Amino acid sequence: MSKNEIFSKCSHINLVKNVKPKTPDGCEECLKIGDKWVYLRLCLTCGHVGCCDNSKNKHATKHFHKTKHPIVKSFEPGEDWKWCYVDEVLLE
Ligand SMILES: [Zn+2]
Ligand SMILES: [Zn+2]
Ligand SMILES: [Zn+2]
Repeated sequence: MSKNEIFSKCSHINLVKNVKPKTPDGCEECLKIGDKWVYLRLCLTCGHVGCCDNSKNKHATKHFHKTKHPIVKSFEPGEDWKWCYVDEVLLE
């Protein structure tokens, strides 16, 4: 997919920063409360690591509602896709 195609699908690409995961070992909130997750998502605006919607706590989605940071990336090895919560579009 070309860059222009991505821009036409999602207008938030400019909010994607060169972030470092804040909690590379797992979901920030789950680690705090000692809970488990299924998959991890990395916020590309601030580096927050949160758990996916298959996890019971859904911290990645909660992070979006709290901060309005729109784009997350899969934090799973071998997976390279992004998801925009606002446009509800997958960016590969
Ligand atoms: Zn978007
Ligand atoms: Zn979590
Ligand atoms: Zn964030």
